[in-house]
Amino acid sequence: MPVEFLKIEIQYLKGIGSKKAEVLQKELNIYVVEDLIYYFPYKYIDKTKFYSVNQIDAHLPYIQLKGKISNFQTIGQARKQRLTATFTDNTGSLELIWFKGIKWVKESIKINVDYILFGKPSSFNNKINIVHPEIEEITKHDEKLQFSFLSLYNTSEKLKKKYINSKAIHNIQQSAFSTIKGYIPETLPNYLIEKLNLVSLDEALFNVHFPQSIDLLKKSRYRLKFEELFYVQLNILKQKILRKEKFKGYVFSKVGDYFNTFYSHNLPFSLTNAQKRVVKEIRRDVGSGKQMNRLLQGDVGSGKTLVALMAILIAVDNNYQACFMAPTEILAIQHFKTLSKMLDGLDININLLTGSTKKAQRKIIHEQLLSGELKILIGTHALIEDVVKFKNLGMVVIDEQHRFGVAQRALMWKKNINPPHILVMTATPIPRTLAMTVYGDLEVSVIDEMPPGRKPVKTIHYYDSKRLRVFGFIEKQIQLGRQIYIVYPLIKESEKMDYKDLEDGLESISRAFPSPKYSISVVHGKMKPAEKEKSMQLFVKGQTQIMVATTVIEVGVDVSNASVMIIESAERFGLSQLHQLRGRVGRGGDQSYCILMTSYKLSNDGRKRIETMVQTNDGFEISEVDLKLRGPGDIEGTQQSGIPFDFKIANLSKDTQILQYARNIANDILENDASLNKEENQILVKQLKKLSKDNVNWGYIS
Ligand code: ADP
Ligand code: MG
Repeated sequence: MPVEFLKIEIQYLKGIGSKKAEVLQKELNIYVVEDLIYYFPYKYIDKTKFYSVNQIDAHLPYIQLKGKISNFQTIGQARKQRLTATFTDNTGSLELIWFKGIKWVKESIKINVDYILFGKPSSFNNKINIVHPEIEEITKHDEKLQFSFLSLYNTSEKLKKKYINSKAIHNIQQSAFSTIKGYIPETLPNYLIEKLNLVSLDEALFNVHFPQSIDLLKKSRYRLKFEELFYVQLNILKQKILRKEKFKGYVFSKVGDYFNTFYSHNLPFSLTNAQKRVVKEIRRDVGSGKQMNRLLQGDVGSGKTLVALMAILIAVDNNYQACFMAPTEILAIQHFKTLSKMLDGLDININLLTGSTKKAQRKIIHEQLLSGELKILIGTHALIEDVVKFKNLGMVVIDEQHRFGVAQRALMWKKNINPPHILVMTATPIPRTLAMTVYGDLEVSVIDEMPPGRKPVKTIHYYDSKRLRVFGFIEKQIQLGRQIYIVYPLIKESEKMDYKDLEDGLESISRAFPSPKYSISVVHGKMKPAEKEKSMQLFVKGQTQIMVATTVIEVGVDVSNASVMIIESAERFGLSQLHQLRGRVGRGGDQSYCILMTSYKLSNDGRKRIETMVQTNDGFEISEVDLKLRGPGDIEGTQQSGIPFDFKIANLSKDTQILQYARNIANDILENDASLNKEENQILVKQLKKLSKDNVNWGYIS
């Protein structure tokens, strides 16, 4: 019976009606009472705090003032009309402005009566004003002052046109809670509420809208954040358990000749401790009888490829095949070359399959895969194509995971009866909280140590006007025998203009660095793969000194003699992209540089990104800033995850501790009741079902 209360359509609430209900539906997706009460305030105002006029500047958020209103003036004609008035307290006065409801304001506001004014200051012609303030007579206000906190709700222009401002939503909430307070059913098991000392859902929801005290507000917000994060984690962990039960992993029981020969004869350097640790973690996984699903995080240049190769060799040693999937053709080719060279003398059949592999060659690959003759296949998305069938695929490595979706990861499984072991690698470090969520179903390994002898890249920011100086610097570096990348942004929406930028840039670079003294490689998305590859190879071999490119070179490309990365219009790149690009240099022993060129016009976020790049080389630190600037839904790799990031109250960049706690609790519960059969946990089952219905994509595929 109480559940039904939550499903009451909002048009039946006091003070709403069908017209307002319609706008609320359209603008805020609020259909029934339940939607409404989960529409949370975005902040709170301390109603006991008043500002005086002389304290105000235009940067303040919503504030409260006490004073009198006088001097009404109507300015302009017809639709362009506006009403102004003067608001005065004993420290000064400011202007109030109304563009709408002018008649009503004029009639209802009394001169020389004390009012409480509420609004956001702004400035026009250097004068402070408040547009469309909310106004209450002081006596009335005092009567109604039951709460010392006022909740503020986000609204939209369309809502405001229908007079649904923050205060109106507040009133609608009041109307809803007057009906349902005390009847909101609990969504967490009682034992959890007791054990964790949480407030009930009924109390929490009420206090989030109408805080009865700071303490209750805190506890209520905590309870709601916990619940939101808890159910996401419970879902992820439950899927993970299900998968482990369902799929047996191939057991790679031995480390054999290939691995050992490689380790003692072919390994060109000694492994870093971090690499050793990760190889051990992988060995433990693949020997366990459970299918491995491991994420390998390691900053650009930390040596993930080598670790991948060793995992692959363990598979081959146990008579299984392996494949290695890269996000771009350039990268696939590069991996193929690197691995082939490293495996020199080991007599392992290795091949490359990409979109441009010729038909005849393709046929051979297909046949050799089926017969088991081909042991290692490197490639791009082409590997996922249905025709590619393996005899016994035991290990899949996916490089730069953020470029692939979960769905693609899942597809690789279909190539076998039993899913192969999977190692996904990413150089885009993601904050811990996000990793727990986006990759919450994976075990995580981290390479947190760079190979010895690397010098940190120096990052410098220049405005476009300093271009000549930058050219001078390039010239000096080339004289020292180094190579230079110059990268232009390529954003889909403005592709034409971007190519124009690249062409113009190329022209001026060619003029500054004329042949035959200098030579330049160009790589961009409009070129044919073969052309790209040819141009790339000239640079790799050191036959060209400058590489002008769009972001196709972003991931993975490895030319250790290149020591300068110049990024044009750097303000247009995201942080993780900038970090990736910078990772292309600093791979040899020479001091390397990253030069960020921008125009003078920088947005706040743009400036913050550039500053962050100049200040730190630490990928994890950068990813934290990225998360704060963009929110989790926009971080690379998260979109494909199927996780709903429009959390209603939790915040992945701030609620790290709550998330970790929620994950631990979910883990504990599943440890005692893996399939959630116990009576006391039925409420969890019910809630998981409800949530997965609300978010169609919520369930994890892999
Ligand atoms: P990423 O983690 O970005 O994929 P790579 O695997 O491409 O990095 O490695 C970057 C460079 O470091 C390569 O040239 C590789 O040969 C080299 N490298 C890897 N491991 C070591 C090591 N232990 N000692 C020295 N150099 C290493
Ligand atoms: Mg790599």
